[in-house]
Amino acid sequence: MTTIRLTNTKARRKEVFEPIDPTKVRMYVCGPTVYDRAHIGNARPVIVFDVLYRLLRHVYGADHVTYVRNFTDVDDKINARAAEMKAAGDTRPLEAIIRALTDETIGWYHADMDALGALRPDREPRATEWIGAMIAMIEDLIGKGHAYAKEGHVLFRVRSYEGYGQLSGRSVDDMIAGARVEVAPFKEDPMDFVLWKPSSDELPGWDSTWGRGRPGWHIECSAMSRELLGESFDIHGGGIDLQFPHHENEIAQSMCAHPKGGFAKVWMHNEMLQVEGKKMSKSLGNFFTVRDLLDQGHPGEVIRFVYLGTHYAKPMDWTEEKARQAEATLRKWRGLVAGIEPAPSPAPSVIAALADDLNTAGAIAELHALAGAGDTAGLKASAALLGLLDETMGGWAEVRGANADAAALIDELLAARANARKAKDFARADALRDGFAAAGVIVKDTPQGAEWELAPDFDPAKLEALR
Ligand SMILES: [Zn+2]
Repeated sequence: MTTIRLTNTKARRKEVFEPIDPTKVRMYVCGPTVYDRAHIGNARPVIVFDVLYRLLRHVYGADHVTYVRNFTDVDDKINARAAEMKAAGDTRPLEAIIRALTDETIGWYHADMDALGALRPDREPRATEWIGAMIAMIEDLIGKGHAYAKEGHVLFRVRSYEGYGQLSGRSVDDMIAGARVEVAPFKEDPMDFVLWKPSSDELPGWDSTWGRGRPGWHIECSAMSRELLGESFDIHGGGIDLQFPHHENEIAQSMCAHPKGGFAKVWMHNEMLQVEGKKMSKSLGNFFTVRDLLDQGHPGEVIRFVYLGTHYAKPMDWTEEKARQAEATLRKWRGLVAGIEPAPSPAPSVIAALADDLNTAGAIAELHALAGAGDTAGLKASAALLGLLDETMGGWAEVRGANADAAALIDELLAARANARKAKDFARADALRDGFAAAGVIVKDTPQGAEWELAPDFDPAKLEALR
């Protein structure tokens, strides 16, 4: 059997991965808070842990791996967004707005991550469906002296858990000095964090012994991972930004509630993403959602390829130049594997690269070697392990192959149209739409991004005039 090595953040070293039960390999990854489109940083853990999921399925068998990723659908940010919608004239009760907002956002998330070729996890629990398990866990923590109720709130007593800070390697006192901890009259200690808080009549709330309220964010991952994966499971993943306080708090809750369990054996954290060498921010104008990139004409497969070019533990830079190169490589490879039966299994060199702490960049180098050696069957089978060259994701390459010059210009104009829409320059966006139609370019906006094809009456001169 393939030996997988993973860098365990908790141990601060690369370790041989030994599942607790190889017939039931279990992974939990923190999912999105659903009130807005996922930005391109949010897509990084999705792609990283999707590749790990594919590797685990390959090594242990698809039926022996369970991957859980939650949807946080109760949160103050969701409540705030819904209140804005109400203030802007939405007449529905706040709870109905919240339900519609979270449902719609989950639909967007699925469409966007599907477009990136990410497999859906086996379970995608919504926090609001597991409130009973959270309340039971909070009661248990109070009973064991690790939590206390005060003024409708329940707080976790951080100093009651000796191991607090081990994951991020900091002492509680350092954390107090370095973090913005909220001091509140209902807290025994500034480090204590909220397990439960009171809800006004208008906000979503559930009945509990502490009054009508809602759970804090951290308890949801502890409760849902326990319900779906057990007190001990193999891998817990997420972005490095979640390591403290979220993951420290998850560990504290779970280890105190279930001291006989081990919670997560291996912790994996992906590094952050930047754009053209700069931190992504709305004020710099370089903030993109996954949907923005798709609408600019970047195929999901190309985006995925760019992400896989950087090891998950290193900061990743999204650049247009990388996207251009990725598109050229994928188009070439798609030409090579067209009509070819994939080899029965991926090349050992590609498996070895991924098994070495998910070295996706190394795996891509091996794919280049297979392509160079003319092993097209091996290339097709191996690319599948990275979620690339899939039959269902390649429509973009065929269409664009037909007329390369027109393709470049159409992509440019589609990007201009997306930017015009974003800037609310509807006159320009409509002019481009009408211009495409007049030139014989049929544009379809799909969940995978804008797609186009050339009509029989395609007129290159009319297209050129749209520049
Ligand atoms: Zn979590």
